[in-house]
Order: sequence, then structure tokens, then C-alpha cells
Amino acid sequence: MIIVLKAGSTDAELEDVCQRIRGMGYTPHTIRGELRSVIGAVGDDRGKERLKSLESLECVELVQPILQPFKLASREVRNEPTRVRVGDVTIGGDRLVIMAGPCSVESREQLLDVAGRVKDAGATILRGGAFKPRTSPYAFQGLEEEGLKLLDEARRETGLPVVTEVMEPDKVDVVAEHADILQIGARNVQNFSLLRRVAETKKPVLLKRGMSTSIQEWLLSAEYVLAGGNPNVILCERGIRTFETATRFTLDLNAIPVVKKLSHLPILVDPSHGTGHWEYVEAMAMAGIAAGADGLIIEVHPRPAEALSDGPQSLKPDRFVQVVAKIRRVAAALDRTV
Ligand code: PEP
Ligand code: MN
Repeated sequence: MIIVLKAGSTDAELEDVCQRIRGMGYTPHTIRGELRSVIGAVGDDRGKERLKSLESLECVELVQPILQPFKLASREVRNEPTRVRVGDVTIGGDRLVIMAGPCSVESREQLLDVAGRVKDAGATILRGGAFKPRTSPYAFQGLEEEGLKLLDEARRETGLPVVTEVMEPDKVDVVAEHADILQIGARNVQNFSLLRRVAETKKPVLLKRGMSTSIQEWLLSAEYVLAGGNPNVILCERGIRTFETATRFTLDLNAIPVVKKLSHLPILVDPSHGTGHWEYVEAMAMAGIAAGADGLIIEVHPRPAEALSDGPQSLKPDRFVQVVAKIRRVAAALDRTV
């Protein structure tokens, strides 16, 4: 249920309403708008009609059901776009965010080289996987904690905040010690115990869409993090499975306007995994921004032919510079900046 407070309600009145909501067995989530505050009361759907009684309070304007199954992720609860802050970077505003770096952290030399180059090209967040979800158990699984330490070094050298994947609930604490943004990969989008654990950290979460999750299922996964008390969720469309084999996945750009309509959460596009081929990354990066995404996450490797993972879809640094130049032009046409 959404409890809309009257404009000018005091903090004490808000806290009183929250207490009453807790007393009825629901969890209040306060969303402070410019004019008025709204409280999302989430919990068991059965018996939620009881919350209607709050309408008799002086400070309550109205109490109405949230129609979407994802509640806190929905525009019904919050209409203003959510902005997620990571250091000096804001994700979800007029300024687009570009996250870039290698698929996997492979060595100190590889990471520091590429980190400096993506920064010079205009990236504001460094990506790099230390724990890698690989289809084959025989493939390179990542440098794990050594990789996290290298990411720390790259952050110190460049000043760029770092996004890196966490795959298991038991590893959330150690990854959160080193990461500025916790990435939940496509293969873990419905790992609900992992989602609950990353919610506890309160760190920004980059939630990739699963290759076979519907938009509704994806937003329900975001809901796990939001309902766990962490409002800092960034969605990322990275392609879904279809019958098409010319590309690795089918980048579902429909998801951008659909998510923008349904949710206030920021959304990025990953044209690297979405296509699987470096030649298509530029076109789909531009298309993603044109469709309304709040930014991009792009794989860049100094020597893609030698990459230990995802070489075929990785851009060389020079090529990345060209892609960013094109993105700047698309952004300008949309009154956004990079
Ligand atoms: C990645 O970012 O390298 C990755 C494994 O992404 P996804 O989870 O989208 O496949
Ligand atoms: Mn990858």
C-alpha cells in the first residue's frame, strides 16, 4: 500500500505513521518527495486492507494499493528518477555514466594499463571481474581476492570507483570491502539469498538482467534489494536468449523505455555482452543511449586476442575512444552529457 502524507506533514507525524505501519506487521519505506512524503508499506499481501484505516489520521492524504507486483521499484511509489551516487559520480541524472574495463582482471599490468586508458577516454567507473561466472568449470575463474586487491590499486592510481561482480552470499563481505558497486551477474539475477545479502551492505548494486528473465521478474529481483533496505539499485540490460545465433545474445532495447515507464530506477546498457562481437558494440551503445539508457558498461582490453575471457566482444582502447566520441554526439542530441 502507498500512504501519501499531506504536504507540510512533520517528521514526528511521519514517524508516528511508520510506527503504526510496523504495528500492523508491515515494513515502512519512506520516500521523501519535493512536495510531500510517501510511505510504501510492504509485506504480506493478505490483510493489507487494514492499512486503509490510516486514512483517518490528520496527516494522511490517502492510502491506496500498489498495483504492480514490484512495489518499491515501481513508479507508483516514487515518480522521480532515482539517482545513485558513487563517489563523485551520479547514475541516473542528465549526465550519462560510462563504465569500462576488462571482462576479467588478469594481471596488474593489464588492469592498470586499461584503467588509465578508459579514464583518459572519458569513463567514470572502472569495471573488472575478480570472481567470474564461467559456463565451463575448466575456463579461467578469475583472480579472486588478488583481483580485488588489483582493483584497489587501480582505484588509487586513477581515482575511478570500481564495479565488480559478487557471485556468492559468503563472498559479499569481502567483495564489498573492495568494490564501490556490487555487480550481480545475469546468471545470479534470481539468486534470492545473494540479493538479500547485497541489500544488507547498502552499497550500490548493478543488477544485470538474466538472459531469460522477463522485465517483471527482473524488477522483482530489484525489489528484493530495495525491500532489504538498500535503495541504490542500478539496472543493466545485457541481452536475452532468442533463436538468433548471429550475435551472442539479443540486446533487448525495448526494455529501456518499458523499465523507464514502470520504474524510477536508473538503467544502463551493456552492448558488449548484448552482442558478443566488438564490431557491433559501437552501434548498440549509441542505440542504447538513444533509447533512453542512463549509461553504458563496455568491455575494453589492451590486447583482446589474448584476453582470458570475452576477448571477441572487447574493444581495444583506441576503438573505445572512438565509441565515446560517438556517444557524446548522441548524448548532445538528447540534451544529455557524458
Ligand atoms: C560480465 O560483466 O563480465 C558478465 C559476466 O556479465 P553477465 O553477467 O551480463 O553475463
Ligand atoms: Mn564479460
